[in-house]
Parts: sequence; C-alpha cells; structure tokens
Amino acid sequence: MGVPVTLIPGDGIGPSIADATVRILEATGVAIEWDRQLAGMAAVEKYADPMPDATLASIKRTHLALKGPLETPIGEGFRSVNVALRKTFDLYANVRPAYSIVAGGRYENLDLVLIRENTEGLYIGIEHYIKIGDDPRAAAESMAVITRAGSERIVRYAFEYAVRHNRKKVTLVHKANILKFSQGLFLDVGRGIAKEYDGRIQFEERIVDAMAMNLVLHPEKFDVIVTTNLFGDILSDQISGLVGGLGLAPGGNIGKHGAIFEAVHGTAPDIAGKGIANPGALILAGCMMLDHLGEQSKAARVRRALETVIRERKTVTRDLGGTASTDQFTDAIIAKL
Ligand code: NAD
Repeated sequence: MGVPVTLIPGDGIGPSIADATVRILEATGVAIEWDRQLAGMAAVEKYADPMPDATLASIKRTHLALKGPLETPIGEGFRSVNVALRKTFDLYANVRPAYSIVAGGRYENLDLVLIRENTEGLYIGIEHYIKIGDDPRAAAESMAVITRAGSERIVRYAFEYAVRHNRKKVTLVHKANILKFSQGLFLDVGRGIAKEYDGRIQFEERIVDAMAMNLVLHPEKFDVIVTTNLFGDILSDQISGLVGGLGLAPGGNIGKHGAIFEAVHGTAPDIAGKGIANPGALILAGCMMLDHLGEQSKAARVRRALETVIRERKTVTRDLGGTASTDQFTDAIIAKL
C-alpha cells in the first residue's frame, strides 16, 4: 500500500504531462496509490461542475494532490476551482522555487524560492462600486486585509522552509512606507518572527518596487523571499522569467490540512493534443511533492535526471529548442534515473 495521493490530470496538455509525471515518479520506486479525480472542463463535461464534491472528498481523505492545469469555465454559477481548493483546505502558503536549469540563459546559478501569502491581502475579494450622482460606477474600492495570525503563519513558514532546506536568508518584501497599516502590520510581525531565528537564518527587508529592480540586477543575492498575496503573484512570475519561463516553473499550495502541487503554467490550448508539451514543470512539482513526503533523495534523483536531459539538449521538447515529443522526453529522463 502506497501513500494515497489525489491526481487531477486537468485539461488541455494536463493529461499528457500528468501521465509523464506519474511514469517518472513510479520509476523512482516511490509507493504512491493514485486516486484519479476530475476538475476543470473535464469535470464540467461529466458533472456540470468544475470542482466536483468527489474531488474535494478525495483530497480531504489524502490531504495531498498533484494537479495538472485546469481551464476555469467563464460564466455564472461556476465555482472558481483555485478559490474552492484554497478555501476548503486553507492553503495559505504558495511556494514557488526557481533555479537555473537551461545553460546560456540570462542568469546562471540562480536558486530562489518565493513564498507568497495565499489567502489574505488584496485578493480576499471584498470589492464594491460607489455611486456618485448618476454614475453607479463612479468609484471602486477593493479592500486589503492583513491579519497578525495570517502574517505570522506565512513568515514562520518561510523561516521554517529556510531551516529545512539549508537556506541562509529570508527577505521580507513589503510596501509599509506607503501602506502603513496593512503592510506595516505584515512587516512588524515579520521582524518579530525573524528575531526567533537570529543567528540561524539571516533576515532582510525590501520595499517591493526596489525588490523588482534588484531581482533583475542582482537576482543571485536572494534566497528565500516572503511577501503578501499581490506582490507574491507578480514577483513569482518575474522570478520564473529569470530562469527561462513557465515551462519549468512548479508551485506548491500548502496548508495545515493539505498540500496541492502543480505546474505554474496553464492548459496550453495551442499545443494540446499534439504530444509536444514540456512536462518539466509538473515533474518538478512532483519533486516538491516527494520532498513534502520526506522522499528527498528520490526527488533529487528526478531533478538530476531532468537537468541532465535538458543540458544535453538531445531529447528535449520544442519549447526547450528540441524536437522530442512529451513521451520521448519522459523516456529520456527515466533512462537517466
Ligand atoms: P498557458 O500557460 O496555458 O500558455 C501560455 C503559452 O505557453 C502558450 O503558448 C503555451 O503553448 C505555452 N506553454 C505553457 N505550458 C507549456 C508547456 N508545458 N510546454 C510547452 N509550452 C507551454 O496560458 P494561457 O494560454 O494564458 O491559458 C490557457 C488556459 O489555462 C486558460 O483557460 C487559463 O485559465 C488556464 N490556466 C490555468 C492555470 C492553472 O490551472 N494553474 C494556470 C494558468 C492558466
């Protein structure tokens, strides 16, 4: 009996990159009992619901999911899949590692991890229009809510992540010079928690605008970065751009009661069904899941095999400059395991 994990293959290129990832994880010998479930358009077609109760029930049982990209249908009455998952399982930490794999990129030897608060800030969805005179939409207000408890748990998560992964430094990114209350609270809480790790993990603070520039000029200076929801959303895409784009960018959504690992990219409708998608991002998400399960050495083996195949440039997918299919690329990685 293996560890139960919910597998959501997803839409578009999802099923093919999910198959590739499952094949590679199984080739490491890890014992996983996959519970395949639907979400996104695949679930709409079958159950008229992009996030069926059976899928939620599965994750409630396994507390762990590997998810392909999902097409969220646009229209009234459909639940947003990501919001449903984040809310149900309180997945407060979005973890996005980025390191240089492809040689000859803009930057060599980058190794950053961005940890984004996933449940608060400007994304809580409290918004309204204000009517002035005849204009019902004369103004709009969106509220940012930062709580002490929410800040504590995300900053602590970042420090604990740094300890667990032998990292040296945590950089807290904020805008407390202007947003003195909400961002100020986040910064204050962060400073307090940083003291608990004094002597073990270095701590520094950066204002978000300066951080954006520094990430372009000197990305090698950063290690673990922790920030609030909106800034994390923006900076994490910037960071994936520093190391060669979305094709190799994994992410984890982590809470006390569950974790969901996924590729950062979407369903790639332009190449779906052609068998040419790069499964790298989901494979790396699978490695994050192995780490989460305490299978660090198996995760390291997969990462090494993936890196070797990419650096050899013989059997890589089109987005990486080759001509290999998803299956050929996957076979090449398995051969290196
Ligand atoms: P996308 O990431 O699907 O595609 C952007 C470009 O990158 C496309 O040209 C695509 O071919 C390419 N690309 C992406 N992944 C690739 C891979 N693994 N290998 C090779 N090329 C790859 O973004 P989009 O086109 O804006 O969105 C398409 C759909 O995906 C939308 O329905 C969107 O809502 C959804 N989406 C889902 C998630 C998620 O479930 N986490 C994330 C982003 C977008």
